[in-house]
Amino acid sequence: MTQRVKSSQGIRNNLRNENDPYLPPKGMGMKEPLRCKDCGLIYWNKRWYQEKEAKRLYGNREIQGEVMCPACRKQNDNVPLGLVTLGGSFLRDHSDEIFNLIRNEEKKVMHHNPLDRIVHVKKTKKGIEITTTTERLAQRLGKAVHRAYSGDIHYSFSDGVKFARVQWVRDNHI
Ligand SMILES: [Zn+2]
Repeated sequence: MTQRVKSSQGIRNNLRNENDPYLPPKGMGMKEPLRCKDCGLIYWNKRWYQEKEAKRLYGNREIQGEVMCPACRKQNDNVPLGLVTLGGSFLRDHSDEIFNLIRNEEKKVMHHNPLDRIVHVKKTKKGIEITTTTERLAQRLGKAVHRAYSGDIHYSFSDGVKFARVQWVRDNHI
């Protein structure tokens, strides 16, 4: 059974991805570096890097094989670890700006945390729904919207199963 831990200010710090079930299987005996066949990220010495950054570390070694990185697998399988919902009447007039903010935030993160990605962004009856490949990105997107537009934000996390929910609502227009 999954228990939800609710707390309005309980942002989890130091989120680590080590327990992420989508990290590459250990002990597969594959030599590194490996490349993600979908997005081109490189797996080297237990971490995923953008190709440029990885090359600095592994030098002239040849790519030993192709795999699929955890972010691409989650995107392909549609198995997000974070859900951000944005709601309230304020959204109606500002949804384009907010979409842009979300996409820019994702781009910024991609550099340092290339496994943090948006799975989908869609408009729903209640507002906007964004799913992410990591809990950390869901938090970050929620924080960015809150910082830019104030409103009310609520974070909740599942115990046991890695999953973060971030809800943001703003009804007033002033
Ligand atoms: Zn990938």
